[in-house]
Amino acid sequence: MHDGSGEPSLFAGFIANLEKKNKVDHLTGLFNKFEFEDVVRRALETRPDERLGLMVLGIDDLRHINDRYDRGFGDDVIRIIAHRIQSALVGRAHVYRLDGDEFAVVARGDDAATLPDVYQALHQSFRRQQTHEGKKFYCTLSAGCAQYPADADTYEDLVKFANYALEYAKAHGKKRRVPFSPGILAERSRTLELVERLRDSIEHGFEDFRLVFQPQVNAADGRVIGAEALARWSCDACGEVPPLEFIPLLEESGLIVPFGAWVLHRAMETAARWRAWDPGFVMSVNLSYRQLDEAKLVPSIAEALAATGLPPANLVVEMTESCFASSSEAAQKLFAGVRALGVRIAMDDFGTGYAALGMLKQSPADIVKIDRTFVRDIRDSTFDATFIRFVVELCHDVGIRVCLEGVEVPEEYEAVSGMGLDSIQGFLFGRPCPPDEFERKFLGKG
Ligand code: C2E
Ligand code: CA
Ligand code: CA
Repeated sequence: MHDGSGEPSLFAGFIANLEKKNKVDHLTGLFNKFEFEDVVRRALETRPDERLGLMVLGIDDLRHINDRYDRGFGDDVIRIIAHRIQSALVGRAHVYRLDGDEFAVVARGDDAATLPDVYQALHQSFRRQQTHEGKKFYCTLSAGCAQYPADADTYEDLVKFANYALEYAKAHGKKRRVPFSPGILAERSRTLELVERLRDSIEHGFEDFRLVFQPQVNAADGRVIGAEALARWSCDACGEVPPLEFIPLLEESGLIVPFGAWVLHRAMETAARWRAWDPGFVMSVNLSYRQLDEAKLVPSIAEALAATGLPPANLVVEMTESCFASSSEAAQKLFAGVRALGVRIAMDDFGTGYAALGMLKQSPADIVKIDRTFVRDIRDSTFDATFIRFVVELCHDVGIRVCLEGVEVPEEYEAVSGMGLDSIQGFLFGRPCPPDEFERKFLGKG
């Protein structure tokens, strides 16, 4: 169309895709997964004597970037990464965009040996915070590798094994490259078996689960003022499995929601009983970040309070520091809802994640639990001692109480006394123990 003076003002046209299967990814301009599959299959078929290296790359926590900004920005990040991968390639290696946040690099012949260098170059280039359109973001890559013919000799197995290795890299701290190994298969099948057995336990009325309780004491005089409920699980086939292993499995499978509700209920029941010895007894219960998504959390706490008869002042829910980092409206509403019930909130493992001291100022936490890593070197490290003192001072300024975790020996207790801490939880005062033992040891039940 032309405007009044005959100048072109609007163009229109069609782009038709006449090929059967589109080979190019629209977002990045890279070849897509169909072409990837064709290339690998063809290579295995036509050059069975040639080595082939496959590296599947995954963006770590793209979800956070999408959450923080928006999907459009997330798409930009995918594009930026696509270009970086392309410029990191050496020799005859090629990159393809797979689904979502994943890419594949295929290298043939001697070039297969360059995949670690490609990853290393990418790793270096994403080590620091990045800026795009004036917005800051931090993003790292994980990678899983598989080789033909060493690891597998079919397309299906190569892709599967590279994906297992990627999964492994993500589960073991992200931002790393993991070559496939038979050990990964073994760990994977153990994980699958554990998840199956956990599901079984839950379906059979939470059999094989139990709670143990660790005392929390008044920092000044060592008197027991409450306990943290900690979950235990063992089964005939797997033996005792530590919570650091089974909690993440419950989280990934979504089983943490019914499980968390059970823990809450059980712990509150116990606390309600223990009020007979100490009316002020406070029970702390851990909540997983996955339970926070549930619009049902506040009503379920309210229900448990009603069912167990535990006054809200006798309950504290603990959430890890990272749960507080989100400034989203939903999170704020959730915190407000919990506190409106009269239940207090503790920020767990403080000092291990991303939380800045400054965020304590507007934090909805009533209690901050300093992580036990700060106690470990307390006697040699002035930093750790100063950190604890600082946190106590800052928290007390805004009315937050402070609990220190991990005091194991009298020398450590001595080192932290005089720092103004409110409470302490650590092996020195008691290890987690079953309820009857807790009653005898800490509640003076005859
Ligand atoms: P957490 O919430 O930080 O719990 C404290 C952990 O520190 C417990 O480990 C406890 O036994 C340990 N601990 C306490 N004092 C000391 C000490 O003086 N020295 C040392 N070395 N360790 C000490 P546990 O029971 O193995 O639990 C590990 C983690 O599993 C917990 O860390 C928590 O994140 C998670 N967890 C346990 N039970 C539950 C639960 O019911 N729900 C959820 N969501 N997570 C749970
Ligand atoms: Ca805790
Ligand atoms: Ca903790």
